[in-house]
Amino acid sequence: MVNNLYVVTPRGFCAGVEMAIKALTWLLKIYDEPIYCYHEIVHNDWIVSKFKDNNVKFVNNPEDLPKNAIVMLSAHGTAPKIEKKFKSISLTNINSVCPLVTKVHHEAKRFSEQGTEIIYIGHKNHDEAMGAMGVAPESMTLIESVKDMEDVSLETKDVALLAQTTLAISEWEPIMIKAKEMIPDLNLPRKNDLCYATTNRQEAIINISEKVDLVIVVGSSTSSNTNALVTSLKNIGKVAHRVEKTEDLNNINLENKNVAITAGASAPDHMVQDLVRYIKPKNIEFYIHKDEKEYFPLPTELRNNIKNLTNFISSMFPDNNVESVFGVKNDNNWSAKEALTSL
Ligand code: SF4
Repeated sequence: MVNNLYVVTPRGFCAGVEMAIKALTWLLKIYDEPIYCYHEIVHNDWIVSKFKDNNVKFVNNPEDLPKNAIVMLSAHGTAPKIEKKFKSISLTNINSVCPLVTKVHHEAKRFSEQGTEIIYIGHKNHDEAMGAMGVAPESMTLIESVKDMEDVSLETKDVALLAQTTLAISEWEPIMIKAKEMIPDLNLPRKNDLCYATTNRQEAIINISEKVDLVIVVGSSTSSNTNALVTSLKNIGKVAHRVEKTEDLNNINLENKNVAITAGASAPDHMVQDLVRYIKPKNIEFYIHKDEKEYFPLPTELRNNIKNLTNFISSMFPDNNVESVFGVKNDNNWSAKEALTSL
């Protein structure tokens, strides 16, 4: 039996994931037709399968769309050329990109327009990296490691360093230090590109890890920030296991251990709760590193659609208070968990 189980906050859904899940749920409520989503809306197998069961079809290519499809672009960001293709085929196109990913796209655009070479640290083939690299492919080089940085061939001394938002701090820092050594006038964003949710979850689990024998990280293998939590822990010599289901615990020796549990930014909290119930520790402690208050509003095009719809319903049924109960004004009080439950 586990001795102490530390349940860590913050864990699980970040503001970008909250927004994207609610945006896709709204589309399902507005339209009867299937919704075509470019890439997994967020990288979590349970959530993707929940949406598949509710008339969402995930596609990796604009060519896979029927004419006049209703389209949602995922939270990870879409390359401008691909977004243009989707727009030309679809009837409605809502982009649920996280604003913190958009910030990196803006940085890439700005640097490339001023003729600066861009080195982008990210994971090859990850949706976010592919989207960002699509902003200025001719000016950007993707690297994954210090070795890649050492090998990079630069044409000028005017270089900027950008990054995927969900890297481990311990992946980003050594590459950034090496880049600064190699390029004294390196352009860096005012604040590094790793997002608040990625940073907070890593700091929290690293802090509490001193007190435990091992850490359970809840999330899917496709989730970059989940993998970054495991990497951050392994890089400081801690034992960490990525887990999704109770059966995944069968091969992990938890007997008489002190354990901490956290979750990547796309993992629903019921997965954590299921695991806690299954583990049945002698004692549970809640470790709160930081409270997060971030809220990202729904994409503008979707907000406008919802406003039009609620105005129409209000005009037809003036006695119903539709706008204040169901409209966008109430969005901040509606959680992704409630959205998923409503499907
Ligand atoms: S992990 Fe960070 S960048 Fe990704 S959706 Fe969440 S807040 Fe946005």
